Amino acid sequence: MTPLERALRERIAAEGPISVEAYMEACNAYYYATRDPLGVQGDFTTAPEISQMFGEIVGAALADCWKRAGGPKDAIYVELGPGRGTLAADALRLLRAAGFEGQVHLVETSAILRDRQAEAVPGAIWHDNVDDLPARPLLLVANEFLDALPIRQHVGAMERRVTVVAGGLAFDRDGEIVETSPAREAVVRSIATCLADRGGVALFIDYGHERFAPGDTLQAVRHHRFSPVLAEPGEQDLTTHVDFEAVAEAAEYSGARVTRVVTQGEWLMRLGIKARAQALSRAHAERAEEVQSALERLTAREHMGQLFKVLAIHSPDWPVPAGFE
Ligand code: SAH
Repeated sequence: MTPLERALRERIAAEGPISVEAYMEACNAYYYATRDPLGVQGDFTTAPEISQMFGEIVGAALADCWKRAGGPKDAIYVELGPGRGTLAADALRLLRAAGFEGQVHLVETSAILRDRQAEAVPGAIWHDNVDDLPARPLLLVANEFLDALPIRQHVGAMERRVTVVAGGLAFDRDGEIVETSPAREAVVRSIATCLADRGGVALFIDYGHERFAPGDTLQAVRHHRFSPVLAEPGEQDLTTHVDFEAVAEAAEYSGARVTRVVTQGEWLMRLGIKARAQALSRAHAERAEEVQSALERLTAREHMGQLFKVLAIHSPDWPVPAGFE
């Protein structure tokens, strides 16, 4: 039994069944605090870890928006859940080249990942929570961050819970499941309020759906494979599909503007990833094959191109970011 499973069973014995939300929160807090889960040796690989092109496109999109907004000097680069800091390093290369000299603020709870980020992004400033970010114009990106935040599941009027049955963890009910995520909406509201008050743009990239639909999307991944969600608590990555309709509503409610939701493939293509791939291949002929395969993984429908979506939230006073029309 994993150490976290022992703790969860004691909690259930003392308090009764715990919500799916409490389960997911406890599992991911433990999981991210105890490891660097990224890459071939780990549990999953994210877009910035596939190729530098991903972070460069993000940086170019933010730089373009910042310039068209008049290049405010007090703007800051912000990333939520920056993993190894790879995306930040790649995006900042482009932003710095465009003349951006602002601070770098990272929202990260894992001490292990903060160490990795410190190597990739010297001089960064860390926060535990989005509410602690300074009130400045934001150039923000969050890749595969919202999917890790806890969700609630309801079956009819009843909240779905995790309990112990016949000596093992089990869900207390089944049926048609509706998911909501107060934690996710709180993050989006906080960012959208800052954007509306101070200016800026935020890119949210994640797998999920454009319109709300009922269904159970909670999944566990370990060593690049799906695994039962109640198995080995704290030792596998728990995520859900992001309901971008709920994200957009929360942002608009807080006074920010939202773009359409576009697929990652479409967005990267519109922002010129093909030209970037050609330039990289010409400059490093020995890496041409690797670059071509990364381009496929990031954009092809059967890989990340279709399931992953991009949504931008921006200040009403800032231009609409490129790639959404
Ligand atoms: N964006 C990175 C990593 C994605 S993994 C990439 O694309 O490679 C999820 C990241 O979010 C990790 O850095 C994890 O430690 C962080 N994270 C998860 N839950 C968090 C929370 N509640 N608050 C802050 N960071 C969190």
